[in-house]
Amino acid sequence: MIKKFIRRVLRFGSGSEPRTVPKAQHGIGREAISQGSRKVCEVLHAQGHQAYVVGGAVRDLLLGLRPKDFDVATDAYPEEVHKLFRRSRLIGKRFKLVHVMFGEETVEVSTFRARTPAETDEHGRVLRDNIYGTREDDSIRRDFTINALYYDPASETLLDYHNGLRDLQRKSVRIIGDARARYREDPLRMLRAVRFAAKAGFSIDERTRKPIRELAHLVGNVPPSRVYEEMQKLLLSGHAATGLRELRSEGLHHGLLPLLDVIFEQPMGERFVTLALEQTDSRVRSGKSVSPAFLFAALLWHEVLAAWKKAEQRGLKPIPALFEAMDTVLDIQTDKLAVPRRLTAVMKEIWALQPRFEQRSGRRPFGLLAHERFRAGFDFLVLRSGSGEAPEELAQWWEKFQHSGEAERQAMLMAPQPGERKGRRRRRRRHKSASPPPDPAQA
Ligand code: ATP
Ligand code: MG
Repeated sequence: MIKKFIRRVLRFGSGSEPRTVPKAQHGIGREAISQGSRKVCEVLHAQGHQAYVVGGAVRDLLLGLRPKDFDVATDAYPEEVHKLFRRSRLIGKRFKLVHVMFGEETVEVSTFRARTPAETDEHGRVLRDNIYGTREDDSIRRDFTINALYYDPASETLLDYHNGLRDLQRKSVRIIGDARARYREDPLRMLRAVRFAAKAGFSIDERTRKPIRELAHLVGNVPPSRVYEEMQKLLLSGHAATGLRELRSEGLHHGLLPLLDVIFEQPMGERFVTLALEQTDSRVRSGKSVSPAFLFAALLWHEVLAAWKKAEQRGLKPIPALFEAMDTVLDIQTDKLAVPRRLTAVMKEIWALQPRFEQRSGRRPFGLLAHERFRAGFDFLVLRSGSGEAPEELAQWWEKFQHSGEAERQAMLMAPQPGERKGRRRRRRRHKSASPPPDPAQA
């Protein structure tokens, strides 16, 4: 018994052998691997190095999905890899990697990591990780068993250290090692667990899931840009509706979009967010493009509405109140999530267009129609009316207006609302274009 135990420990310490699975069993031929990653492996092999396709690409191929990109792991150091490929870049300081470019494709090449990270913060979070190890060490450092499969394009064999193939079959997301310790090292792994489960329709293994609720707050220590990247992957995975529901049920939405909780609690907000997510998912699944700015604008709209109302109650006029509300909401959110500035600018435009859809007299509708963001603004209005927050009739009017000829459009125009300015008074400010002058609060 003791002997057996010692043998087990020794075996672990000196590098246990992976299960080696031939092509006849796993079915992936090298033609399934991208040209770039195949080339990277060939060149590294020719130099006497090990090189494997790893991570998401192998997982996705085994699931019959099309991989987004291909990552390669090798025992060559980043500097060596960089020297071998003319079109490559060394990136990252804390986690050095090499990007090798082949036409449109970028292959991310990482060097096998050592078993223990080099430097951690007071919560155990990994700060620096440039100590290298063996292939087995590297496999232990990966997050989930299904992400730790190594594919060798030369022999077409698959190396499985942690029963990743079994977990794929069981449809289970299982963390490698002790879940608590692994989440402390990198709290984003909690979010990743939810993302992979949602994307593949898997469930999260019980021991992997259990500590999440308790450790969810650690996500707050992760740099916002990394959180944003991971959130964006989740939102654009084609399974955002399920993913967010899961995040919420694991208590993980706090600190990501801190106000999501509030949103889901208002019946109108929940309907709106659900509609937006479903629409995004179906676009992603049918291969259409989606705009992250539009989606974030939708996720936060009901917060903007609430803040808008408050600002008006304090006596601000509607438009300045809306602009103040947008800033309030974005300040809170960007703190945690680091929504990039190029997105917040578009989000604000989409929001700011909404009151303009109510103006249906004079030249104003024509100006709105010519606006650069009309399409996004209109799609947003359609979502609002679909959730009952804006009148359906308004969205229908704009649907018809944009597809009508000039004469029909003229006939559709409405009489100015009582109190509505006729609109041309500000011409003396020398706005020559057909579009209406900017909102006072914007000027
Ligand atoms: P996808 O590209 O579909 O988002 P992926 O699994 O390829 O999924 P990446 O973020 O591209 O995810 O990471 C590639 C691989 O690197 C992962 O499969 C995993 O093995 C490893 N990895 C990534 N992030 C972590 C992490 N936070 N902790 C441990 N291993 C990680
Ligand atoms: Mg990947």
